[in-house]
Amino acid sequence: MHVVKTIAEFRRLKRHLCRQDAAEKLRRPSVGFVPTMGNLHEGHMALIRRMQESDDIGVVSIFVNPTQFGPAEDLESYPRTLEDDVQKCEEEGVHLVFAPDSDEMYAPDRCTSVSVSGITQRYCGASRPGHFDGVALVVAKLFNIVEPDRAYFGLKDYQQYRVIERMVRDLDFPLEVVPCPTVREWNGLAMSSRNSYLSPQERTAAATIYAGLCAAAVAFNGGVTDVSELVRKVKAELDEAVQVEYLEVADSRTLEPLRTARRGDVVLVAAKVGGTRLIDNIILGSELNNAD
Ligand code: AMP
Repeated sequence: MHVVKTIAEFRRLKRHLCRQDAAEKLRRPSVGFVPTMGNLHEGHMALIRRMQESDDIGVVSIFVNPTQFGPAEDLESYPRTLEDDVQKCEEEGVHLVFAPDSDEMYAPDRCTSVSVSGITQRYCGASRPGHFDGVALVVAKLFNIVEPDRAYFGLKDYQQYRVIERMVRDLDFPLEVVPCPTVREWNGLAMSSRNSYLSPQERTAAATIYAGLCAAAVAFNGGVTDVSELVRKVKAELDEAVQVEYLEVADSRTLEPLRTARRGDVVLVAAKVGGTRLIDNIILGSELNNAD
């Protein structure tokens, strides 16, 4: 496995690996890509394993992207564990880890932005102004550097997945976006690098977010379609330490909020537990967490 810090070196090595693979298999190899901010946990590893099953060449990027953090957010304290991450990638047989510095990714006088409108207006887009511009910019850049055939994204970050899917369609990136189910702790808490900020008590409280989502899914399966009733079902499960930021039922493609829920709609939630902001979601009436 190669760990690469510069774009030029990444491109050179990728070309070399693809040529080698093509010579062995007598066809053009497929390139898979999992973009991450590192501090890899089982959620990331599920994406990486899926890529390793499907693609000839596996690429993981590890980059804590400053443009997607707000000024009052946790850019400085975000957990950075490059050595461990590299080892985990190696164990899965990943071919290339791209781990650039900020200076390598962003010229000081950069003046190009990527902005996805509409579906970024609500939810995390509203509570984290500029966040999705930062995500779209870095993912577009990474797609141009890596040139993958398939890119794997977790449904845990549901709005992000839909934003990337839209950007890929609108800008004609020649790749497939592959959504992957949310991986959870034993108690239902969606795995996240930010879970490391939680105390043991806060972790227990945070698990009630998924309990609430499940209660809504069960109620929906039992015939409840009124969104305010579904929202009540979620709230009834939440620990008092869970401070809801948003809790809505939305059309899974447009992310428009709804008053009456249908099969396939998504319940989206963001909440603070202590100082830690967490997000989660569930799809109504389908296999839990699966994309349509
Ligand atoms: P991050 O490092 O948080 O930027 O996440 C990198 C990728 O891993 C994104 O596509 C996330 O949606 C995905 N991811 C993070 N946590 C999970 C999880 N618990 N289950 C599935 N995918 C996840």
